[in-house]
Amino acid sequence: MKTYYDEQETRSRDEREESMNRDIAEMVRLGYERSSTVKKTMDGLGMKPSDIQGTRDLVNLPVISREQLVELQAITPPFGGLDDPGAEIERIFISPGPVYEPHLGSHDPLWARGYQAAGFTKGDVVINTFSYHMVAAGLTFHGGLTRVGATVVPSGASSTQQQVQLIRDLGVTGYTGTPSFLMALIEKASEMGHDFAKDFTLRRASFVAEPLQPSLRKRFEEEFGIDTYQMYGATEVGDIAYECGEKSGWHLCEEVFVEIVDPVTGTPVQPGELGEVVVTRLNSIFFLFRFGTGDLSRIIEEPCPCGRTALRLDGIAGRVGDAVKVRGLFVAPSQVGNLAAQFPGIALQLLIERQAHRDILTARIDLRDTMIDRGEFLPRFERIFQEVCTVKVDKVVFTEPGSIPDDAKVLQDTREWK
Ligand SMILES: [Zn+2]
Repeated sequence: MKTYYDEQETRSRDEREESMNRDIAEMVRLGYERSSTVKKTMDGLGMKPSDIQGTRDLVNLPVISREQLVELQAITPPFGGLDDPGAEIERIFISPGPVYEPHLGSHDPLWARGYQAAGFTKGDVVINTFSYHMVAAGLTFHGGLTRVGATVVPSGASSTQQQVQLIRDLGVTGYTGTPSFLMALIEKASEMGHDFAKDFTLRRASFVAEPLQPSLRKRFEEEFGIDTYQMYGATEVGDIAYECGEKSGWHLCEEVFVEIVDPVTGTPVQPGELGEVVVTRLNSIFFLFRFGTGDLSRIIEEPCPCGRTALRLDGIAGRVGDAVKVRGLFVAPSQVGNLAAQFPGIALQLLIERQAHRDILTARIDLRDTMIDRGEFLPRFERIFQEVCTVKVDKVVFTEPGSIPDDAKVLQDTREWK
């Protein structure tokens, strides 16, 4: 059985960079030759394929959003002229939009790295609760699971009752789907008179397509003995990143080149800063360069103790439209949530104002726990604030108790641009 935790995942960063450079240059060369849209775009920009020697030059091509992809496909059906018309395509997936996606073929270890890292292996029986109808999800996750040797139960969109019966009858050991659906199955099992942790053998879950809330993760792991993992991807480009046993950030897949960019300009941000996740999947069928996912994240550069050398994404901080830019750095509502979660007993709101042509970031804090010592709290808050949000807080204001309601907007942008 081929393992996907292979030499590629532990090669040096220089080796990876060199190979990515080669692959990107080759993909541009092929794309220019075979895709009418790539040729048209590059001709329009006055670029030749040889102008893109590697990943660094990719920034000269525009970012393509999902909306733009839908438009391109409406103009040039079915694939927006981004495909190689001569390619043999095994399947075509359809996602809402509509977006038509040629399946990239069986040589690509799509999702297998994520399942491997989550510990799925030969002998596992896994229910795949994603839809197999039209969309890529069901079949591509299925493929990833079989590549690591697992037996797949294609339970798809079956009812919770049927799924619980399958878990029981087939001795299911693993789950893939959304976190909320797994919780629905656990609740259904209990309604049907089962004790999920005692009566069943499901001990491993790999989630994708929905954020995993820390509180829910804790329940799965502590109450029900289920080891949980996350994967991240987009239907247009397949798998992008996955969590390893360290459960601290998601390693970038070896088949994608990922940039974190300023969503307005498309220019890469500094390492560690928040920006939009832009993905190019290395392949020779569908020449979708620089797909803008609309998701916000940042890169973790520190090496991971697991031994994989690929950089990690620091989860998803939200959607591009939800974030605000403060002194050139993006801050997302979810970051404020993460920050507040590290300080029990406070309510927090960030205020962004413009004074003398400068952005001023004020943290309004309601110390609901009156035992908190302000002198100890303040330096720790400022330090963790910068760790979580990258940008520095200018002012911290302690508000009247109860002045920040639970449903308050956590990011208040009062700047007016005239
Ligand atoms: Zn790792």
